[in-house]
Amino acid sequence: MFNALIVNKDDEGQTSAAITQISEDQLPAGEVLVAVEYTTVNYKDGLCMSPGGGGLVRNYPHVPGIDFSGTVEASSDDRYKVGDKVVLTGWRVGEAHWGGYAQKARVKADWLVPLPAGLDTRQAMAVGTAGFTSMLSVMALEDQGIKSGPVLVTGAAGGVGSVAVAILANLGYKVAGVTGRPETADYLTALGASQIVAREEINETVKRPLEGETWGGCVDAVGGAMLARVLGQMEYGASVAAVGLAGGAALPATVIPFLLRGVNLLGIDSVMQPYENRLRAWERVAKDLPMDKLEDMVVPATLSDLPKLTADILKGDVKGRVVVDVN
Ligand code: NDP
Repeated sequence: MFNALIVNKDDEGQTSAAITQISEDQLPAGEVLVAVEYTTVNYKDGLCMSPGGGGLVRNYPHVPGIDFSGTVEASSDDRYKVGDKVVLTGWRVGEAHWGGYAQKARVKADWLVPLPAGLDTRQAMAVGTAGFTSMLSVMALEDQGIKSGPVLVTGAAGGVGSVAVAILANLGYKVAGVTGRPETADYLTALGASQIVAREEINETVKRPLEGETWGGCVDAVGGAMLARVLGQMEYGASVAAVGLAGGAALPATVIPFLLRGVNLLGIDSVMQPYENRLRAWERVAKDLPMDKLEDMVVPATLSDLPKLTADILKGDVKGRVVVDVN
């Protein structure tokens, strides 16, 4: 028997979460059984834990947790053997399939990635989907070419934003972080931001389709009016990696920045990312994300902290990256 955070739905449709002892035979089918060591809290975990499962969870009882890292305990797939260290993000694990908010998980071998050299299971969850997606965003910006101005990171004190700031600064770019929490300025500066932009400065609906050419690239975790505004502030030919919607899913923009400045809007999806690119991104994380900076982002937690932390992240109240020791 082992501990799992099980979410149940009652006859009135109300969901509730409780740590429950379950056995391996209750786990879903899959080729690899993983002894989970760490999991984390992403915005999507907040949605999955919210009443109604945020439209992402279909079946109850459910074990949330879109990410986990741990050690292979049993495998019927040649690619993995007992004792291998692995990380899992995406593939709708924690949404459509049982996830990492438990001491064990059984999943498809295709969904796992071997932990790259230089990263342990705790660091892998300090990175998690948020940090992995930051790396994908930086890779996408690099592929298009980052221009001369500072790289803007929106939602900078959040998970995606914090890791993006640290990676970009470490790669030698000037980084400007947009935050609605002025008290995080020292934290963002320590991660490598050289400029802090107040959220309200940049969060208004577009008044003029083009403003001064300010940013050489952008990792955008916010979407909505902020993304619309940022598009008009990009340098000629610069790119924005659209990652998130913490500020809204609508895009009240004009096409003028695309037509007159050749601005690129790059869609970033971490969930269905092909295996080869996953490997590349995790290897880049191990190489380009300074581990001391990653440690500065970590908020340690346990399984019993998850109901509060998953509610907090939906309110934008989590700073950096939560690392949950499930044992
Ligand atoms: P966090 O909550 O940790 O970070 C989001 C940050 O956005 C907050 O910390 C806050 O930053 C800022 N923010 C929150 N609300 C608003 C608002 N109303 N207006 C402007 N800014 C706001 O979440 P994550 O970093 O885990 O995820 C960020 C986004 O990226 C989410 O929308 C998530 O769903 C998405 N995502 C997408 C992925 C993909 O595959 N495309 C993968 C991972 C995440 P601050 O306090 O600094 O202002």
